[in-house]
Amino acid sequence: MTSQAGARGTNPSRTPSIVERITSDARSTPFSVEFYPPRSEQEEQRLWRAVRTFEQMHPAFVSLTYGAGGSTRDRTVRIAGQIAEQTTLLPVAHLTAVDHSISELRGLVGSYADRGIVNLLALRGDPPGNPLGDWVKHPEGVEYADELVRLIRELGDFHVGVASFPEGHYRAESLERDTHCLVSKLRSGAEYSITQMFFEVEDYLRLRDRVAAADPEQGSKPIIPGILPITSLRQVRKIVELSGSQIPAHLEERLTRAAGSGNQEDRAEVRKVGIELATRMSERLIAEGAPCLHFCTLNFARATQEVLSNLGLTPVAA
Ligand SMILES: Cc1cc2nc3c(=O)[nH]c(=O)nc-3n(C[C@H](O)[C@H](O)[C@H](O)COP(=O)(O)OP(=O)(O)OC[C@H]3O[C@@H](n4cnc5c(N)ncnc54)[C@H](O)[C@@H]3O)c2cc1C
Repeated sequence: MTSQAGARGTNPSRTPSIVERITSDARSTPFSVEFYPPRSEQEEQRLWRAVRTFEQMHPAFVSLTYGAGGSTRDRTVRIAGQIAEQTTLLPVAHLTAVDHSISELRGLVGSYADRGIVNLLALRGDPPGNPLGDWVKHPEGVEYADELVRLIRELGDFHVGVASFPEGHYRAESLERDTHCLVSKLRSGAEYSITQMFFEVEDYLRLRDRVAAADPEQGSKPIIPGILPITSLRQVRKIVELSGSQIPAHLEERLTRAAGSGNQEDRAEVRKVGIELATRMSERLIAEGAPCLHFCTLNFARATQEVLSNLGLTPVAA
């Protein structure tokens, strides 16, 4: 560890990397969960309830997203630090290039290191306000995530992951170009990727094949599938719209039928379909040798817990 950032806080030899953690897990397929930084005191309490519930289920790691700006960014740093210091969980802290100069990014990486966090997910991020709007690089920042990976690696012995996109990133000219960009992030020193949530397992399998064909060495790095157990049609539509991905027509139809025709959607029926879908997808992903199942929890434990229970991976608490 030679850098300012790394020298300030942490002894990385004592913290496992994500790849070490998932490959040494005694379960045939480990799982991990994603949280987002809370926006209120009430949300923070809910987050901690979810953290403590998952702690008992021994996820391989937990990740914490990084907001588009303002105070939620500080909260990501604080809460990731609290998870590292006060729980038995292994945190992965996200960081994005949005509105950050290189100097600020160095400082941010240093703040994580100060809190003992060495596993980072390097992302470009989306334009604040309108995620689908034009991307404008910070004048003293980075343009693409591969530069961010290199920057973090230069700062010390961090373990870096990146994002991957089974359907292709919505800004990419083609799937081939998108694959090339992912390979470039991996060649820059990323050790694994976590995918955008998706609903067709074939899309994940094709991504894996594309990366392996483009670069067999990089293709051997884990591609961890992101799974959202759907509990609300309105909510999943919004998430999908903001991420530039899609709900397949057959699933949209099923969820719409489950939601019913009233003003209020029938959440119980939608949830049933969502849990079943996440269970079936997970079974198939396990059969296809996925290295870990990464669940987007939206800071609630119950739906993911039910999926894990259906898979026989962990009991549902009474
Ligand atoms: C698992 C996961 C976690 C996420 N967590 C967060 C989060 O915490 N906070 C947040 O704000 N957002 C998050 N996102 C969203 C992410 O920031 C956006 O999807 C963003 O639009 C792309 O980020 P990236 O790191 O993949 O960017 P990049 O890899 O830089 O790619 C951006 C676009 O540019 C293209 N591209 C990449 N490199 C090059 C190059 N060298 N030349 C030309 N084109 C290139 C790519 O194909 C793509 O279209 C997450 C996404 C995923 C999948």
